[in-house]
Amino acid sequence: PPDVEALGRSTWTLLHSIAASYPEAPSRAQQSDLLGFVGLFGRLYPCWVCADDFQAYMARRAPPVASRREFGDWLCAAHNDVNRRLGKPEFDCATWEQRWRSGWKD
Ligand code: FAD
Repeated sequence: PPDVEALGRSTWTLLHSIAASYPEAPSRAQQSDLLGFVGLFGRLYPCWVCADDFQAYMARRAPPVASRREFGDWLCAAHNDVNRRLGKPEFDCATWEQRWRSGWKD
């Protein structure tokens, strides 16, 4: 199986980067693409316990796709849910756009 930590780091980079480049006012097609993507992602992510948890999270809180801000905030909260479970510090979601859109050093 893939390295769960390295896979996770790369995947969060991809997911937050998708949120950061998502339009502020997405079209119906873009909203449906994003919803389809996260749904398939939750089924295909090759860390099965991670994928199960992510699907359970989506069942509790459906991903909002009406704007970059809403989706990015949701994704940040989803990542914090994992951080909490793993005993990692929570990330301040007021800063996710700085981290993933404007960029800062990690
Ligand atoms: P990561 O958590 O990978 O974060 C990478 C960078 O993202 C951080 O350095 C920080 O700059 C930034 N960041 C941190 N938190 C946030 C946030 N809330 N919002 C925005 N940016 C943030 N591992 C398991 O062992 N068990 C699991 O059940 C599990 N579930 C996962 C589910 C998903 C959907 C994904 C993508 C990964 C999962 N992982 C899981 C992997 C885990 O989340 C980490 O990726 C891995 O432990 C490496 O952690 P890290 O400390 O390098 O930073």
